[in-house]
Amino acid sequence: MPRSPIRYVLFDLDNTLYPRSSGVLQRIDQRIEEFLRQRFPLPDPELREMRRGYWRKYGTTLGGLVAEHHVAPEEYLRFIHDVPIEELLQPDPALEQLLNAIPAPKGVFTNSIRSHAERVLRALAVERHFGAIYDLGFMGLEAKPHPNAFRGVLADLGLPAEACLFVDDTANNVRAARQLGLRTVQVLDAGDDSDANLEGEFVIPATHLLGEILMYFQFVKA
Ligand SMILES: [Mg+2]
Repeated sequence: MPRSPIRYVLFDLDNTLYPRSSGVLQRIDQRIEEFLRQRFPLPDPELREMRRGYWRKYGTTLGGLVAEHHVAPEEYLRFIHDVPIEELLQPDPALEQLLNAIPAPKGVFTNSIRSHAERVLRALAVERHFGAIYDLGFMGLEAKPHPNAFRGVLADLGLPAEACLFVDDTANNVRAARQLGLRTVQVLDAGDDSDANLEGEFVIPATHLLGEILMYFQFVKA
């Protein structure tokens, strides 16, 4: 049976539209540590242990801070995304070329916040390609890989899962998307030292190489 054609491409933002080597996420991670240091007068090893505990119990640092310390999510998210994006990312003509070559509308689907996503897209000079940004606020803080995050985006797009191509670097997100029926491409950054699982229908070492596999997808003619 022929598969249904692709009508929309959803791109993750961080470490997908730009490479891990840019250092953006490392800087955000430092801001998370700084937030905890300012909030809790504890030695660093205890703060790290606290974070690990929140990851296990709530999936994210934010989840634990909200549940156990009544931290306002907006305050935390604004603080941790306050990094010099424009110093770390430059306009990316190869990405621009790739986005031009994809014959479907595109959106960003990110566990970060809209203002961060807009800043990243501007720094890469590709903002005009993205008609929608689905951020943590849109998801009501129910982030990827929670199935509800995907369901909310698909409902907003008014599309069945199989009509969407999802591109993300995080194995858990890609697995969740595939289980829901989205078509998937996993970007497995060579600089990724974690033992990432291969979950995508396709796995590519950089988003720039997505152009090499577009032929395997059928797109709806505009
Ligand atoms: Mg990512």
